[in-house]
Amino acid sequence: MKRRAFCKTAVAAAITTSLSACGARQQASDPGPSISAVSMHGDELSIETAAIEELRGELDGRVFLQGDEGYDVAKRVWNGMFDDKKPAAVAQCTSIEDVVNAVNFSRERSLLLSVKCGGHSFPGKSTSDGGLMIDLSQMHDAVVDPDGMTARVGGGALLGHVDGATLPHNLVTTTGTVSHTGVGGFTLGGGMGRTDRMTGLAVDNLVEATVVTASGDVVRASEDENSDLLWGLRGGGGNFGVVTEFVFRVHPFNPTVYGGDLFYPVDKDSMQLYADMLDAAPDEANIEPFFVPGEDGKMLNMVGVTWSGDHAAGEKALAPMLNHPSLLSGELGPKSYAAIQTAWDGLTAHGQQNYLKSGYFNELTPDIIELIVDFVNRDNTPSWFQHLGGATARVAPDATAFANRNVAVNFGISYGSNDPALNDAGIAAVREFYYALEPHMAGFYANLHQDEKEKVGGNYGENYPRLVELKNKYDPTNLFRLNANIQPA
Ligand SMILES: Cc1cc2nc3c(=O)[nH]c(=O)nc-3n(C[C@H](O)[C@H](O)[C@H](O)COP(=O)(O)OP(=O)(O)OC[C@H]3O[C@@H](n4cnc5c(N)ncnc54)[C@H](O)[C@@H]3O)c2cc1C
Repeated sequence: MKRRAFCKTAVAAAITTSLSACGARQQASDPGPSISAVSMHGDELSIETAAIEELRGELDGRVFLQGDEGYDVAKRVWNGMFDDKKPAAVAQCTSIEDVVNAVNFSRERSLLLSVKCGGHSFPGKSTSDGGLMIDLSQMHDAVVDPDGMTARVGGGALLGHVDGATLPHNLVTTTGTVSHTGVGGFTLGGGMGRTDRMTGLAVDNLVEATVVTASGDVVRASEDENSDLLWGLRGGGGNFGVVTEFVFRVHPFNPTVYGGDLFYPVDKDSMQLYADMLDAAPDEANIEPFFVPGEDGKMLNMVGVTWSGDHAAGEKALAPMLNHPSLLSGELGPKSYAAIQTAWDGLTAHGQQNYLKSGYFNELTPDIIELIVDFVNRDNTPSWFQHLGGATARVAPDATAFANRNVAVNFGISYGSNDPALNDAGIAAVREFYYALEPHMAGFYANLHQDEKEKVGGNYGENYPRLVELKNKYDPTNLFRLNANIQPA
């Protein structure tokens, strides 16, 4: 008998027996006859413990309540500013059926619902106080089909699972710069990485998805089936359901790239060099300045360079960066792409207090350069560029939900500290810098942005009405609301 069916029977017979039989792997606390929770409208709810036990019986995975062993690990999110939140329950799903049961449980009770893949949402959208968290972290398989040139990836996988599956085949699909980031939020919001100027955004490589919608239906989205949903998943975030599986296009790739880190002062000359390189750069080039404090406390312009193509051609194209008179140190050469993709993992470890805003520039004008150089040197605020253009800009703004296409770079301004007492000042510095630049910006990347709820619609431009239509169709009560939210009409 399947474990799920067995547990259901046991629950009907005696809840206590089911706890010891089915929950032998899980040290459960005794929460009493009901637990307090919060509805999706913010009202207090009381959920009967018997109902939780029934859910436990229905799932192949586990359900954690506050006080249960494993609860703290299961509910963990990356940004320390939100890690103290306490969901009423965590449904750690291991199958599509588990996700269906958890979605139904939440919808039937109007229980606030969050969906967690890698837990890296900067604004902490994958957790809540008092809601149900669907934790997809156990659904992390990544399997490559080298003949079909696709990768089939579980809805709870991390970017490292994807690179780990593709690179040994000399294949790649677009993943981001930190391997413990989740595929789910990364992809649904856009997905930028070191190869995207050649291989497109993650959404441009998404060819199929399996989705559990708000009604609990399992829907396949591809160009042939429910193509409207596929369009919406390509940039519309977690608004339309829980994706239990992504299928990505993969591309031939030499996992030994040409690149390295080059160091310059944070001044107008080094920024003008960057502006010139942006104009001239072939698709193989990914050039990303990162402003960081040097050993003497003065800010440095550390430029990460990754050339994903023929090395001799890279050497020629990138020579102006090496020959520039303001170069302080650094060199370029053959590098393991897998090593580059994990190099920042430790620097961006879980638990730190983090705050971030970002926005797009169509070009780097002298006014923008001056503002950036002044702010970075004045406040020592860490900030960085993501190199766009190339293949990411050759997709029409209405071809996918991700509308911000014709841009050269994304610019992020961040605060990070282990001391919550510094949060107010750190957040204020990020905001001041960002709002000085905002008039020059062409929208923002919802995946790397905080506090702009009222601006979400405008950021989608002419795609927004179509996204609202999709929301009406797939999630008319806004069950999936903890995200860059598209409100149903
Ligand atoms: C250290 C770090 C490095 C980053 N680097 C990059 C980068 O290089 N490029 C880039 O583009 N972005 C980058 N980001 C931003 C990143 O894309 C977003 O933070 C993204 O939301 C993280 O996805 P996640 O699954 O880990 O997040 P989670 O917190 O798990 O989820 C965020 C939201 O996504 C939705 N969601 C997640 N999974 C699913 C699913 N399977 N089905 C339905 N909805 C789902 C939910 O709405 C959820 O609230 C980075 C973030 C961090 C913290």
